[in-house]
Amino acid sequence: MTEHTHETVRAEVRAWLQANWDPNLGLVEWRTKLIDSGWGQPTWPTEWYGRGLPASLAPVVEDEMQRIGAVGIAKTGIRRLAAATILAHGTPAQKEKWLRRSMSGEDTWCQLFSEPGSGSDLAGAMTRAEFKGNRWVINGQKVWTTSAHHADWGLLLARTDWDVPKHQGLTYFVIDMHQPGVQVHPLRQMNGHASFNQVFFTDAEVPPEHQIDALGKGWAVATTTLMHERREADGIRTWGQATEGTGRVYNEERAETATVMEPYKWYPQRAGRVDLVIERAVATGKNHNPIVRQEVARLLTMAKSAEWTARRSRAAQLQGKPQGPEGSLGKLASSNVARLSAQVHTLITGADAMLTGVDSPMDGVIAEILVSVPAGSIAGGTDEIQRNIISERVLGMPKEPRSDNDRPFRDVPKNVVTPGR
Ligand SMILES: Cc1cc2nc3c(=O)[nH]c(=O)nc-3n(C[C@H](O)[C@H](O)[C@H](O)COP(=O)(O)OP(=O)(O)OC[C@H]3O[C@@H](n4cnc5c(N)ncnc54)[C@H](O)[C@@H]3O)c2cc1C
Repeated sequence: MTEHTHETVRAEVRAWLQANWDPNLGLVEWRTKLIDSGWGQPTWPTEWYGRGLPASLAPVVEDEMQRIGAVGIAKTGIRRLAAATILAHGTPAQKEKWLRRSMSGEDTWCQLFSEPGSGSDLAGAMTRAEFKGNRWVINGQKVWTTSAHHADWGLLLARTDWDVPKHQGLTYFVIDMHQPGVQVHPLRQMNGHASFNQVFFTDAEVPPEHQIDALGKGWAVATTTLMHERREADGIRTWGQATEGTGRVYNEERAETATVMEPYKWYPQRAGRVDLVIERAVATGKNHNPIVRQEVARLLTMAKSAEWTARRSRAAQLQGKPQGPEGSLGKLASSNVARLSAQVHTLITGADAMLTGVDSPMDGVIAEILVSVPAGSIAGGTDEIQRNIISERVLGMPKEPRSDNDRPFRDVPKNVVTPGR
């Protein structure tokens, strides 16, 4: 086996890009070449569009792509979570069907996990899947489903067995979102955006070959998806931006980003915009106020230490160490930073922080920070849930007492009435 080094990988990817990169190709055409070469996901196995490289060498490939402004595979939206989950749990036929099209950007995805009665208690999901004839029939409701309004496929967690404890009766499916049994209704948030939706299933259908992993193994598959989601919520992620450049491939990527990133355009504000704090303090003259200076220093100290923790965790990943509970530490730290940042922005801007529209501070960005920050403490598992994980898995404290894990889910008291159950 050839030993890969930074130098050999750099030389190989550079030579391949020199021979193949062309900004005048169509976006899908270019990405298909990139995917087939294995340079699109170099850490993936060679039989599945990768080159089997260790994670520590992936930045070399990224570096070479950025050096010449080459467009990468589609990474925005839920498709990253879908691809990672299918790569880990899918059959060869499922990988064939979905991996390439997700990376080329031809397919878009959403994550159908949360329900009106089960968010933190995700294993209490009640959307049901029943096998009838030759297919699964889905009935129930999901909620807070980001991007469901333009998704082709959904990652669906549904109950297939009511007579076993709750974690054992779930199965994971991929559902086609374009069918009459699936209805998507947008929800308007307090910041004015409508990123997520309620999704209703009425006799929606899923063919058996779209079941991911074994019957009753849905919880393990969902855990893979969530692990990847939390890993990315550590405050050092960059939001999907189109590559700068002139040519057909760039134009098509810009158009794609405008649609796919639409639901996420307030996400920088959700993170608290620590980057704007000093600029605002100077602009308002509050940088001379000792209380403001003290709070700004407190915020920047907290943000810096959260960033270093996140970088340490990334470095561990790059050395091939498995993801541990540090995903929860990073997520909790970024919620704390965002909340404090909103407070500091309020201290600097005063009551005007509540204004939106023309002539408002930073054209309403400050107000948008205030009403967007709470989302970070909820999405992908609330702060309290991260604290539970940290206390149990990092600090080794006793597990929360539970009364619903050791009896059939059918007999567990529920706060949502499901007819016939
Ligand atoms: C911006 C955003 C995007 C989202 N996108 C998606 C998506 O694409 N797909 C999807 O499926 N979901 C999505 N969600 C939903 C999200 O995963 C849930 O909102 C979250 O898991 C919390 O569930 P819940 O809203 O039902 O709150 P609940 O679970 O009802 O929690 C209510 C309160 O009780 C606390 N609590 C609950 N259980 C415990 C406990 N055991 N210990 C201590 N405290 C507890 C919680 O911390 C919270 O404060 C999104 C949410 C947001 C904000």
